Amino acid sequence: MEKCVDLHLHTTASDGSETPANAVALANRLRLAAIAVTDHDTAAGIPEALAAGEHLGVEVIPGIEVSADYNGGEVHIVGLFIDPTSEALRRVTEWTRKDRDRRNRLIVEAMAADGFAIDMDTLTARHPGSVLGRPHIAEYLSEKGYASSVKGAFEKYLAEGCPYYRPKQLIPMEQAAACLRASGGIAVLAHPLQYGYDGKALEAFLSVGKACGCSALEAYYSGYTPAETEMLLSLAARLGLGISGGSDWHGSVKPHIQPGSGINGDLHIPYTVLEALRGRRP
Ligand code: AMP
Ligand code: ZN
Ligand code: FE
Ligand code: FE
Repeated sequence: MEKCVDLHLHTTASDGSETPANAVALANRLRLAAIAVTDHDTAAGIPEALAAGEHLGVEVIPGIEVSADYNGGEVHIVGLFIDPTSEALRRVTEWTRKDRDRRNRLIVEAMAADGFAIDMDTLTARHPGSVLGRPHIAEYLSEKGYASSVKGAFEKYLAEGCPYYRPKQLIPMEQAAACLRASGGIAVLAHPLQYGYDGKALEAFLSVGKACGCSALEAYYSGYTPAETEMLLSLAARLGLGISGGSDWHGSVKPHIQPGSGINGDLHIPYTVLEALRGRRP
C-alpha cells in the first residue's frame, strides 16, 4: 500500500476535538505515514504529538496555522517543519492570541447582552489550555440549543455578515511567512480556493503569496475535486510553488472530515509530497 500523509490537522491545542496524542493514535490506526499538527496560532500541542509519534512510529511534522491579511481579507498560512520554541514564532503567536482574547470577549459580551446564557469563564473552563476561537463558541451555542449544529451556529450568529461576527486583527502575509521561515519552517498557502478567488485573481493571490515568502500551496484539500487539484498543481508548477496538502481535520467539530482521506475518501496525499517539501526548507 502506498504511504500517505496529512499535513493539516487541528487538535485540542486550538479548535480540534481530540488531543494531540489521540490525533497521532488515530493517524496510526489509519496507517498514515506522517502527519503535521497545525493548530491555529499555537505550537503548544507539538511536544505531545512528537512524543506520541515516536512511541507509535508515526512521523510528526511540527506545524502551525496562522491567519494573515491579504487585500483586507483573512487568509491562512500553514507553517511546516517549524521549531516550536522559536522566539520569532512566540512573538507573533502571543500577539495573535491576545487579539483572539479581545475578539472572543467582544463576541461573548455582545451575545450575553442580548440574553444568551454565555460567558467567557465558562467557555475557558470547558477548554483548559486551548487557543479559543469561534468554533468553541459555536459548539457551546449548539449544545445549549441555540443552534442545531456547529455549522448552524456559524451560519446564524458567527460567520462574517452575522450579528455577532467580530473581525480579528491580522498581520500582513509577509510577516506571517517571515516568522514561519525565521522559525526554521516553510510557509504554505492554505486552502487557496476558500477565499473566493478564481482565474486571474487566484493567480495574483498566489503570486503575491510567493513574493511574500510562501514556498508552497495546498493543492490537496478536503472537498477539492480532482479538476480543482489538477488546476492548483499546474498553477503551482507555473508559479514555481511547491505542493502541500491536508484534510484540515478538526474531529467532531467538523465531523464530515477524516484525517488522511478527507470527505468521503476524496483525499490521497502521497508521501512524496512531504519529501519534496522537505527540500524547500530554508
Ligand atoms: P476563528 O479562527 O476563531 O475565526 O475561527 C475559524 C475557524 O472556524 C476555522 O477552523 C474555520 O474552518 C471554522 N469555520 C469558519 N466558518 C465556518 C462555518 N461556516 N462552519 C463551520 N466552521 C467554520
Ligand atoms: Zn480551525
Ligand atoms: Fe484554515
Ligand atoms: Fe486549518
